[in-house]
Amino acid sequence: MNINDIDIYPDKINLNDLHYIECGDGWKDLIIDLFSEIAPQISTKKESIKILQIKEKYGQLRVYFSSDKYNENINNIIYKYENLSKKICELCGDKSTIVTSGWIKNLCNSCYTNSK
Ligand SMILES: [Zn+2]
Repeated sequence: MNINDIDIYPDKINLNDLHYIECGDGWKDLIIDLFSEIAPQISTKKESIKILQIKEKYGQLRVYFSSDKYNENINNIIYKYENLSKKICELCGDKSTIVTSGWIKNLCNSCYTNSK
């Protein structure tokens, strides 16, 4: 999905290096929620976080970032959303019930059927 599909430009979250999000549209809301939850964690004006890459790996959302300062809350939030993604269909955002083997993907029943 294109970064422009993510209709959010939170203060203090630098998305300049992020041109393309390497996962399905089903995780779009998850990523928007993730940004919304991270933004208030960056308290000072000088502080910022740079998102380097967002992708799907082994059926799960992965977020790579760099920040000026270690912030455990941000690490925990990202970890939480990476875990949440395991239960959400990567293609449509429905509850996923199927994890395909081989090339691991988190899909709901109908997306799984359509992909066959
Ligand atoms: Zn689906």
